[in-house]
Amino acid sequence: MKLILLGAPGAGKGTVAKLLTKLDGSVQISTGDILRGAVQAGTELGKQAEDYMKRGDLVPDELIMGIMESRLQEPDCEKGFLLDGFPRTIPQAEALKELLQKLGIKLDMAVNIDVPREVILDRLTTRRTCSNPECQAIYNVKSNPPKKEGVCDKCGSPVIQRDDETVEAINHRLETYNEKTAPLIGFYEKEGLLVTVNATSSEDVIAAIKEKLGQ
Ligand code: ADP
Ligand code: ZN
Repeated sequence: MKLILLGAPGAGKGTVAKLLTKLDGSVQISTGDILRGAVQAGTELGKQAEDYMKRGDLVPDELIMGIMESRLQEPDCEKGFLLDGFPRTIPQAEALKELLQKLGIKLDMAVNIDVPREVILDRLTTRRTCSNPECQAIYNVKSNPPKKEGVCDKCGSPVIQRDDETVEAINHRLETYNEKTAPLIGFYEKEGLLVTVNATSSEDVIAAIKEKLGQ
């Protein structure tokens, strides 16, 4: 399947994407994971992105399009892909449309995961992430803690709170979402690709996506 996952930070895009990869071998492409990996590895891309990310600001569109243009042409995308955290702005959505046309790729749909704001705030403050850039497993101190406190179940690396998960940075990310990313809902509605799912459990979101895909 070839999907865009839309939704506020904390809506569960990453969790849903990881579950969907198990269905048909589609790959998860998370620009956030790619950028955090680059920051930790200290690459040129990481150096350019780091300050924006710490503040909870978006990284410039040109950097993101550079990443995505090459990522979408890797062979593992042939079976399908789940775009998680991209596109984030109208210019990114327009550039993606052009890129997909150039590559001859057709999207199935853009899924808007719509979760109430209280749930989002609670999730973001209690979220923890595996610090290993190759893993980046997501936990929640209340609803899904690692078996051993502070240690990733999957790879044994320390599980940490992200730099951009302070209350200030979270509020800023949500403002940025409302201002820059929420307009994509209208964009994909016009494209005839939008599907909105009102669900707070990832299983319900998956079930709704399967139904829409006719599976
Ligand atoms: P979340 O969805 O929880 O906010 P992400 O992991 O998707 O987190 O993104 C973390 C940060 O990485 C964002 O706050 C932003 O700085 C940067 N980022 C990720 N994807 C994009 C994108 N498509 N465009 C611009 N910045 C991005
Ligand atoms: Zn891990």
